[in-house]
Amino acid sequence: MHSKSKRSNFASSTNERLDKVMVPWMSGLVSGLQNRVQQFESARNLSKTSDILESFFICMTRIYSMNKEVYIKGKKFEPLFPKELLAEKIGKLASIIEDELTNTKNPLYVVMLNGAFMFAADFLRCLNGSVETKFVRYTSYSGMSSSGSINKDAQLKEVDVKGRVVVVLEDIVDTGGTMKAFVDDLLGMGADRVLIATMFARDKSYSFGDKVSMHPAMVLKDDAFIVGFGLDYDGEGRNLPDIMVHL
Ligand code: 5GP
Ligand code: MG
Repeated sequence: MHSKSKRSNFASSTNERLDKVMVPWMSGLVSGLQNRVQQFESARNLSKTSDILESFFICMTRIYSMNKEVYIKGKKFEPLFPKELLAEKIGKLASIIEDELTNTKNPLYVVMLNGAFMFAADFLRCLNGSVETKFVRYTSYSGMSSSGSINKDAQLKEVDVKGRVVVVLEDIVDTGGTMKAFVDDLLGMGADRVLIATMFARDKSYSFGDKVSMHPAMVLKDDAFIVGFGLDYDGEGRNLPDIMVHL
């Protein structure tokens, strides 16, 4: 009897401690995290990151980023998206593309080098079964801006493309100039339809024509220059596993 009441005293004082100390502490922590997410989102002008997981990852990167900036050729880059978030988005994009291609026989996947190599390696490994993959190199960027003129280095021939659905794997669609040139070449060679699976696109409207649909894994709200995960600044930074931003 005595020990039972001691136990219940102990239980009620533990509950009291949980109520008085732990609950306010936990809710303080959660609201602190929420504030940081909001500050981070508005500082970076991100599009709505409503899903909790995404906000959590972004918040954690912000905390993680405090001492993790990288300098490339004298320019400072800070972490923006961690590799875990990229993996999550790529998995979702791969399912969207597979759903779109449910009734399509023999689609051709084309990787746009150099920037898309890391994204493509992850994306292609998310697909079920075996697919045909080819590589092209269309370049337009010099330093941090689009040069306007496009250099083409493509091994694709009409016979590879004619009558087929082509899925183009790209790192980032920016002005859309490089992609438009490539998509027009594919349609000119007789491609039936083109799906653009890109890791990033900017928040603007692109028009590639009726036979083309674009599916970005992530949309960037502003024009900030990013590196990492295959994307470079003047030949460097492609190896960085997270996406870093120059603010
Ligand atoms: P667009 O022709 O669409 O203007 O440019 C597309 C190409 O420019 C991309 O495939 C990529 O190689 C490069 N690019 C565009 N924006 C960025 C960026 O923020 N960072 C890096 N590293 N490359 C970019
Ligand atoms: Mg590219």
